[in-house]
Amino acid sequence: MSEKTEKMREIRDEVIDLKESPLYEYRVQNKYYPVLGKGNHDAKIMFIGEGPGKNEAETGVPFCGAAGRILDELLEHIGIPREEVYITNIVKDRPPNNRDPLPSEIAIYAPFLIRQIETIRPNVLATLGRFSMKYIMEKFGLDEELGAISKIHGKIFEADTSFGKIKIVPLYHPAVAVYNADSKEELKKDFEILKQFK
Ligand code: URA
Repeated sequence: MSEKTEKMREIRDEVIDLKESPLYEYRVQNKYYPVLGKGNHDAKIMFIGEGPGKNEAETGVPFCGAAGRILDELLEHIGIPREEVYITNIVKDRPPNNRDPLPSEIAIYAPFLIRQIETIRPNVLATLGRFSMKYIMEKFGLDEELGAISKIHGKIFEADTSFGKIKIVPLYHPAVAVYNADSKEELKKDFEILKQFK
């Protein structure tokens, strides 16, 4: 087994066993799965969403419902196959009724996300939605550049990590485009900025 696969399995096993999480009981009661992430462990681009919805918690696969179909469409638009990238979330268990993740939930799952980033070592972190945008930009020292997602979406920021320089690209969450065609066009335009990194 490759070293990366081994590290990713360790992370998965720890999350499966994360009884301290406020979302653990809800996962067990509903026979849900934690959603660790899926894709290429050597990906150049890593997408970071918010947290699993019902479809994701029932299958363990990130972005496999309505928002996932939009994400697929956006990836197709820029000619990047889903298998080439890595897709994950900041929160690994489903928050009840798709509510926003709480700060305490982000705090408990974020260290696992950071370990995933340090294992995959992508060139680009593409955040999907304001929660992963805020967390990732603050984590990588971009507090000063952080603003409303409506102001900074589709821009490229550079940051230093333990494994070298990385680009951070905040994007709107694909769910905004489920019922709104204008948002989808805006997302498509923003996604085009990722083409140069494939
Ligand atoms: N929304 C997210 O943020 N992540 C998923 O995996 C699915 C929907």
